[in-house]
Amino acid sequence: MLKLKNERSSIIAEKHFDGVRFYINQVLEYYINAFEILIGNKSPSDAVFILYNNSYLDANFINTLGGKLCFMKRSEKKITKLKIIEIYSKPNIYINNLFIVHKAGFKLFFEELKTNLKLIITGSPKELLLFQEDIKTKFPFVKENNGLFKEPLRRLLLQSVFNYNKFSNKQGLPKSSIRSDYWERYDLAKELNVNTCAYCNRVYTFTVISESGIGVISPTIDHFFDKAKNPLFALSFYNLIPSCTNCNSILKGCKELSLEDYVHPYLGGFGGHAKFNYIPLDVDSLIGESVNLKVFIDLDELSPINHQIKNNIDLFQLDIIYTQHGDQVRELIKKKIMSNNRYIEILRHETYKGLSLTLEESYRLAFGNYYSESEFSKRPLSKMIKDLVERLKMI
Ligand SMILES: [Zn+2]
Repeated sequence: MLKLKNERSSIIAEKHFDGVRFYINQVLEYYINAFEILIGNKSPSDAVFILYNNSYLDANFINTLGGKLCFMKRSEKKITKLKIIEIYSKPNIYINNLFIVHKAGFKLFFEELKTNLKLIITGSPKELLLFQEDIKTKFPFVKENNGLFKEPLRRLLLQSVFNYNKFSNKQGLPKSSIRSDYWERYDLAKELNVNTCAYCNRVYTFTVISESGIGVISPTIDHFFDKAKNPLFALSFYNLIPSCTNCNSILKGCKELSLEDYVHPYLGGFGGHAKFNYIPLDVDSLIGESVNLKVFIDLDELSPINHQIKNNIDLFQLDIIYTQHGDQVRELIKKKIMSNNRYIEILRHETYKGLSLTLEESYRLAFGNYYSESEFSKRPLSKMIKDLVERLKMI
């Protein structure tokens, strides 16, 4: 697994915050206003003015937001302008009882989210967990016995505040003059410029945006803390991990990961704590004539994060998947034997003697990959190649 954190991370996190906050604040404002009307601080007769005229959101979308507070038939899950005054005049008939009973508390709850929006979007993984714990303690009526947010707060309201579906769709929100440069998954991925999957470093994850601004391809974004169980973190910068579909959807899925048990790519990668190794399974593979070998990741027994690394290896099935790259390992062995261990030296000091190649340049020519760890995300298999080149004592 690659380490994602670098000197640009906090700058991109700020940019991400600037990009998503306008939309999130609009939705939070809507709910704060709706609870103001329920409390009686604002009149139901002004509901149309308060909830529609004040907002830059699309009217149809506002109807959906209102519907999430209500008991409505499936066919009527949107509050329309026509119906809104009746609903807020007789809330006991239409509005979900949870929101009626705790209306004053919910207003404060949504205000608290608004006040702490920057922390929620740019906080470190540990800060996010602490904030979530604190807000559930401060507003105990939002929490189920199992610790999750209560329904329909979790799946309906919070998912529309921290709306990942809209963020992930290049054409999700209509561009308006106010929001002409709104920020989406493709914009974030382009900034991050992580071109291989952070979890496996096997698959290219380029971001391509067409000249007309439409997203063509980008990495899938994994939520380290599952977004269904932790809707507050659905748009949190350090919870958005650029990755491949296999790692994100097939191998990890909705599995709940903790910082105690897994390596978080923004808190550290495998680095020197775990290195690739291989075992030849017959005489031919020993001399680079066969791919019959097993590739695996060796743990540093003294590493303090052994337990987390082992869980990552198991979750993403790295050992058995990397064994499929035996052909790459065979080539390395062959280069070592052919050159009598002098592959880079021959390139550098004999074949291309006049070019005064640096070690990094000759490494890239020799092995088709990047030498320094800070560039590992540029090409697939970079860590495996580097670890094995070192193990074979070719540098
Ligand atoms: Zn992957």
